[in-house]
Amino acid sequence: MENEYEVIIIGGGVIGTSLLYMLSEFTDIDNILLIEKNGIGNGSSGSWNNSQTLHVGDIETNYNTDKIIETRTASHLILKYTKQIKKQNSGDLIKPVQKMVLGVGSEEVDEIIKRYDDKFISLFPKIKVINASEILKVEPYVIKGRSKDEKIIAAYSEDGHMVNFGMLASSFVKSSFKNKKRIKVILKEETIDVERKNNKYVIKTDKSSYNGRFIVFAAGGYSLYFAKKLGYGKELSMLSVGGNFYYSKNVIKGKVYRVQKGGIPFAAVHADVDIADKKITRYGPTVNIVPFLEHSNIMSTYKYIKALGLDKETVESLINITEDKDIQHIIEKNLIYSIPDLGKYYFLKEEVNKIVPSLKYNDIKFYKKGGGIRPQIIDKKMRRLILGVVDLRGDGIEFSMAPSPGASSCLKEALKYTLSATEYLDKKFYKEKFMQLFCDNEAEYKLLIKKQRH
Ligand SMILES: Cc1cc2nc3c(=O)[nH]c(=O)nc-3n(C[C@H](O)[C@H](O)[C@H](O)COP(=O)(O)OP(=O)(O)OC[C@H]3O[C@@H](n4cnc5c(N)ncnc54)[C@H](O)[C@@H]3O)c2cc1C
Repeated sequence: MENEYEVIIIGGGVIGTSLLYMLSEFTDIDNILLIEKNGIGNGSSGSWNNSQTLHVGDIETNYNTDKIIETRTASHLILKYTKQIKKQNSGDLIKPVQKMVLGVGSEEVDEIIKRYDDKFISLFPKIKVINASEILKVEPYVIKGRSKDEKIIAAYSEDGHMVNFGMLASSFVKSSFKNKKRIKVILKEETIDVERKNNKYVIKTDKSSYNGRFIVFAAGGYSLYFAKKLGYGKELSMLSVGGNFYYSKNVIKGKVYRVQKGGIPFAAVHADVDIADKKITRYGPTVNIVPFLEHSNIMSTYKYIKALGLDKETVESLINITEDKDIQHIIEKNLIYSIPDLGKYYFLKEEVNKIVPSLKYNDIKFYKKGGGIRPQIIDKKMRRLILGVVDLRGDGIEFSMAPSPGASSCLKEALKYTLSATEYLDKKFYKEKFMQLFCDNEAEYKLLIKKQRH
């Protein structure tokens, strides 16, 4: 029947589209629908809405060893994918870039020296610790105008990549259609409800309704809203963490990250050259706790409250999370950054000038049109925030909530849902074909499918 599908994906960001690609390329599932309420790759995956960093774990000082290995293995899939599609204009989609994590002041300098020991460098042989005069050669503006008395150090690598994740999402759709299966992508249609009927799900949109045997919600924070509607995810809640950017003329050649404390799920403000516009440097993202599921969309507040679930455990979790001194500090300073004019002044002094000391108030501008939401999931039992991507598994249905580094690990997430779908639908996963394109050996594959589910 026309509106019957084996798999329905809701959400055309980098997670939903990578799944579309994976299902079309590596399984015998033939009849797939993707429903997106706006355009492909325009949500958090859109290039101005995130930091465009292919996270591999070398400069992310808030990651522990397990997280580093997980992130590195996952992001390598993107490198392998983009190598294959080189002819498909991948030059604007992914670019090599130098990168560093910068330590400013005695405490951060000590932390970098301690973290980047021989054991760490054996994981990432291309990273090296460099002093102020070496930083001057690779990122002059990090040194220009800085007091000679200020202690600084960096862990530096030339082995970075920046990615236009919105373009990556479009490329996944394009690659999917090459397989000549029954694939349908519907844009500008919003899923408003989901219901279980017999062995199928009925997806109701603002225009029509579709039946699917296996469903994946890859709809950012909305995924948790729909999960809760079906009675899943009672043990989870969510903080919507908005992130915005400032920009200046280009002064940074690559990516300059700052030291972030372990356990904090988002990176500290960093400076990045923009993949699409070489003339600018971006600074961000800010960290704003907002009552929305979507950037600046006040209409999403009702659904946010539903996803949050205002019960005793949620309130206790929120209190516990905000009692953490580091998180408290981040929230407080970002509240100040949101005050008009004064906020920009403090953002410059507290964040931008720590990286580029010579910039003045009028040199930076707030980017009004960009910014995204990180759906940071709360484990209500543990009363804490979960670091990274969270997925919920139901009976023939999956829900993905992907804050950073979700875009970097999209293909790994897609593989997980692909294996679930083929198992549930009793379909084939072409493991050999997948291995040929993506894995050097069985151990690597095992790392990819290691259970890290919620
Ligand atoms: C400020 C910021 C910086 C970040 N920096 C990085 C980074 O440098 N590197 C990195 O790897 N990750 C980064 N991330 C995380 C990364 O952007 C996300 O993990 C990734 O984009 C998530 O992809 P997604 O497909 O889940 O979400 P999205 O790209 O938001 O896609 C979800 C889609 O679902 C659609 N949708 C929602 N509800 C419905 C509905 N009811 N019906 C139909 N469609 C619907 C939306 O329109 C949207 O297109 C950052 C995120 C933010 C916010």
